[in-house]
Amino acid sequence: MFDLNKLVRQNILSLAPYSCARNEFSGTASVWLDANESPFNGPYNRYPDPLQKQVKERLSAIKGVDAERIFLGNGSDECIDLMYRVFCQPKVDNVVAIAPSYGMYEVCADINDVEYRKVALNDDYTINVDALLAATDERTKVIWICSPNNPTGNAFPVADIERVIKGFSGIVVVDEAYGEFSSQPSMRFRLNEFPNLLVMQTFSKAWGSAGVRLGMAFASEAIIGLFNKVKYPYNVNMLTQQFALDHLAKLDDIKAWVDTLLSERTRLINSLDALPQVETTFPTDANFVLARVVDADDIYKHLQAQGIIVRNRNKVEKCLGCLRITVGTPEENDAVINGISNYGTEQ
Ligand code: PMP
Repeated sequence: MFDLNKLVRQNILSLAPYSCARNEFSGTASVWLDANESPFNGPYNRYPDPLQKQVKERLSAIKGVDAERIFLGNGSDECIDLMYRVFCQPKVDNVVAIAPSYGMYEVCADINDVEYRKVALNDDYTINVDALLAATDERTKVIWICSPNNPTGNAFPVADIERVIKGFSGIVVVDEAYGEFSSQPSMRFRLNEFPNLLVMQTFSKAWGSAGVRLGMAFASEAIIGLFNKVKYPYNVNMLTQQFALDHLAKLDDIKAWVDTLLSERTRLINSLDALPQVETTFPTDANFVLARVVDADDIYKHLQAQGIIVRNRNKVEKCLGCLRITVGTPEENDAVINGISNYGTEQ
């Protein structure tokens, strides 16, 4: 049975959070002498909205999720760290995750001194639901599922994700950082059904805004309330909030970018598959392609020497011999295709 109060760290449950000046007053006023700000250099002299209400209202309409069920952080990376700080007692609790997957789940576990249990994907990168559930015990607070998964690229069937959520009484995080590139429906529409579900998305990938650092978490009001309690008071700065409001008026541009990247993805895969230096490309639902090549370390260096940087995943579990290649502009994709195609052809 899911019982949120039993999952939360006791010190967080009883925490009296910092109450900032802007939290305590929400009416209209003309004289602001409550926060020891400078009266000069407006609008930057003022602290930003700690709960980013305007941005959340816009996002609520776009994402179809109530504003109270949205958390905004300094990238999804902040949401990942908060999962540990809210739920995991250092040295006592543990989390379970698919492997390979996004590296920050493990780094944040290490920082927070929380045991990180890896459950290998099957060789075809499908998820082993039974093994994932079997790796949990009474101290497991979180299961991490990244779908589409980084670095493998594939999205997991909704039925598999549902089995994990139904079979576990802790929190299941579904990281949909690459969700816009997948035809699979987002799990954020299932929050009513599953009180133990948290879905993460980001401005960094399809929305083209990695530099501004804005990540989203969607979950029950109770879970979002806990995140708000623990986060830094002004975790999303004013420039980022303003940027987000402006950017969310450009949804047509964003859709066009995604369409372009999806057709470039197909072209990149077809071109790579035709090269003798490429042994295989793996099916992808993301804006990158994992390719097994004849000599990953050497081709990585060969590309680097031409000023082309890809991600060498050769040392990563289940990714032996693989490079992860992000889909770029047509010119960038041509460059990486040509770069790989001329490997080993020098006289
Ligand atoms: N999740 C996944 C699966 C990622 O690959 C990344 C970044 N590479 C992130 C989260 C972090 O995203 P953000 O830029 O929002 O912190």
